[in-house]
Amino acid sequence: MSLSLTKHRFSEISLEGIQGACLDLDDTLYAYEPCNKAGFRAVLNRVEQQRIVEPAALEQAWKEARSRTHQQLSGQAASHSRLLYLHTALELLFGRSEPALALELESCFWDAYLNVMEWNPEAEAFLQALKSAGIRTCIVTDLTSHIQFRKWAHLDLQRYCDFMVTSEEAGLEKPNPIIFHKALSKLQLAPEQVMMVGDNHEKDILGAVQLGMRAYLI
Ligand SMILES: [Mg+2]
Repeated sequence: MSLSLTKHRFSEISLEGIQGACLDLDDTLYAYEPCNKAGFRAVLNRVEQQRIVEPAALEQAWKEARSRTHQQLSGQAASHSRLLYLHTALELLFGRSEPALALELESCFWDAYLNVMEWNPEAEAFLQALKSAGIRTCIVTDLTSHIQFRKWAHLDLQRYCDFMVTSEEAGLEKPNPIIFHKALSKLQLAPEQVMMVGDNHEKDILGAVQLGMRAYLI
């Protein structure tokens, strides 16, 4: 077992003695922030163009809705659900539920998000190296399955990866061991045979190290 608090580049990670690799998705295989900004901007543009509500009012309601959703669903996949943020934000704005509009704006968000999502080239090269070395891979990711599957499709992860486990599927988010156990079970490997690679120290690194996996913060 090895734990390093220092950040690594993908090219520095040794594959020696490894039979499986778990990888985080968001902010590990691609940069999250530009995508999230593009998604949010698209939603604000849409409400302005269609005169649904003032963008500033939606922005404020979104913040409140996000905070309530995080609090209500802490540790679960749906705590980050843009659909639930929008559902609650629209209730705050209109005093009633607007599920059809929430759905429309959620699509608007994720379509714009995926539109600007592109590979971290070092991450793609790393996955190519894992594949060439015959190392089995599992994406281990916090969020609801539908959008994480869309991200898989967008990056065409089928070319490199064998498995994916989402926190919706596991029931709880990283660093809960349940999600890592699920990944190891899919890989049919023991913790000491598998490495975890991710950008979040607490979720990705501590979560994996607790189970005896080696882990690399990138
Ligand atoms: Mg991440």
